[in-house]
Amino acid sequence: MQQKVFQSDVNCASQTTDDNLKTLAFLTIYITGFGITAGAHRLWSHRAYKAKWPLRLLLVVLFTVTGQRHVYVWALDHRVHHKYSETEADPHNAKRGFFFSHVGWLVLTPHPKVVEKRKAVDMSDLEADPIVMWQKKLYPLLFAIFNLFLPIAIPVYYWDETLWNSFWINFNMRFTITLNMAFFVNSLAHMWGQKPYDRNISPVENLAVSLAALGEGWHNYHHVFPWDYKTGELGNVYNPSTTFINFFAKLGWAYDLKSVSKGMIARRAEKTGDGSHPQIWGYGDSDIEKEDQEELEAMAEEKELFKKED
Ligand SMILES: [Zn+2]
Ligand SMILES: [Zn+2]
Repeated sequence: MQQKVFQSDVNCASQTTDDNLKTLAFLTIYITGFGITAGAHRLWSHRAYKAKWPLRLLLVVLFTVTGQRHVYVWALDHRVHHKYSETEADPHNAKRGFFFSHVGWLVLTPHPKVVEKRKAVDMSDLEADPIVMWQKKLYPLLFAIFNLFLPIAIPVYYWDETLWNSFWINFNMRFTITLNMAFFVNSLAHMWGQKPYDRNISPVENLAVSLAALGEGWHNYHHVFPWDYKTGELGNVYNPSTTFINFFAKLGWAYDLKSVSKGMIARRAEKTGDGSHPQIWGYGDSDIEKEDQEELEAMAEEKELFKKED
């Protein structure tokens, strides 16, 4: 009888330990995802808003936990992707198939046009950001600490998890899930879904990808208006990354949020039928249409006016 009680206590303890590990892995996947979506993507690739140094530091740490290379190279490839979308110069050209755009591009030799266009992208804004350059310089060490050592060590240290469980669940499983969530934006969100904003381009609106990737599946809209910090017309429809940025904007850590007016969306929709579609990488790109740029500047001025009136 006593032995039975002891046995059930052991089972109970290992169940709790296992649950702790799964909860930690899930929370880490969810929270660090903001480093990709709100950080490397919306802030650093597209300049869709500005962030004060504490938020940039937080985002760079979260991004490092995801292990998706450093911000500088991620943003460089992403700018090339938007600028030369679905041509030979697109690093993860979806026309080369699901596997290539999902993960193959990271392990295969890049097309010479990708190498050529990578050199042509203006990255001076990131080069002027000491936090981005610090992460770039120390990336192998930071990867080892934040992606490998801490996720494995924390469960072992805090609740005596076995090294084996911690390694498989909070490193291998967590890392694999996070990578694939982000990869779906380059594969699925360029293949299956609706195209309400521009039917001449491949990116689509895909709810499943938005659910998996913290609101990054509204990809047809995003390729048409890459400077919009919401990466979707309806910013609050399953878009936790927008909520994340809005929260930090309330704290004053995120500011100068770029968006798109209803008029701009309507104008774009009218033009879509003719097949002309300038590829742009984000705010400040010289190919932004003149009237769109003027309206953006007017929107910024209006905000300034409100600030002064306050
Ligand atoms: Zn894309
Ligand atoms: Zn983008």
